[in-house]
Amino acid sequence: MYWERVSEEIYLFTSDRYALVNSVAVVTQEGIVLVDALPFPEEAKQIARFLEVRVGADYHSAILTHHHMDHVYGLFAFPQTIDLVAHELCRKKLLEVGQSSLDEARQSDSTFAEVTLRIPNITFDTGELLLRAGNKRFRLFPLPGHTADNIGVFMEEEEILITGDAVMAIPIIADGDWAREIETLRYIKQLAPETIVQGHGEVILRGEIQIVLDRYIRYLECIHKKAQTALRQGRDRKEIWNIPLEDCGLERVPLGIASHRLHVANILSIYDKLRAG
Ligand SMILES: [Zn+2]
Repeated sequence: MYWERVSEEIYLFTSDRYALVNSVAVVTQEGIVLVDALPFPEEAKQIARFLEVRVGADYHSAILTHHHMDHVYGLFAFPQTIDLVAHELCRKKLLEVGQSSLDEARQSDSTFAEVTLRIPNITFDTGELLLRAGNKRFRLFPLPGHTADNIGVFMEEEEILITGDAVMAIPIIADGDWAREIETLRYIKQLAPETIVQGHGEVILRGEIQIVLDRYIRYLECIHKKAQTALRQGRDRKEIWNIPLEDCGLERVPLGIASHRLHVANILSIYDKLRAG
């Protein structure tokens, strides 16, 4: 696990075990507001200990950007009595598939044995939710596309946008909606925050935000074309595996060995939808 400070009161924790997934802790006068937690128990407990030594163990609440397990499981390492805030669709998804995917994870890795699933107790399904903690304000609003339940957490004063997986080192839409993800990236461009904390990968700073978001949009447009071309040429699903990530302007480095597999899953999801008409 790596950590760095985004500002005086904002700590960012990044997993070195799973796809550079991020967790954020914002220190307020009323305790810590945690946004997402990492998947592996050891790393999550490390974050909790780190915060306790640095700033104490008072928590205000936790926010989940979406229901994917790599953001959810680590919550078990933090006080279970604090409110957990998310989109209503996130709560529904976790009630639906949370326990079964946790059981599956436990079977393949016994370190997940100590994880217990937390279900959001404060949710919103239309509009926005404003969360106040001491002198900090967090504006929560939908950023769908990666998943239907993904939300952004905008700290307006600081102009820091925590995007969950709406922004990540390689945009992933295999479990979501390609067109909505492009809309979401355009919306974030126009929101033009100072800083973006993405779901996976490094912090994106002012001068690079427009460039990086444009690169992600171009990537999504490119994989759509790749899927269309493959279909038109009557190519098999298997042949999609041969389309390199670099063809669509991204590099594998940020998400390591998983990069190519995620990229292929992206194209296949579009290919299958187009084929189904
Ligand atoms: Zn995700």
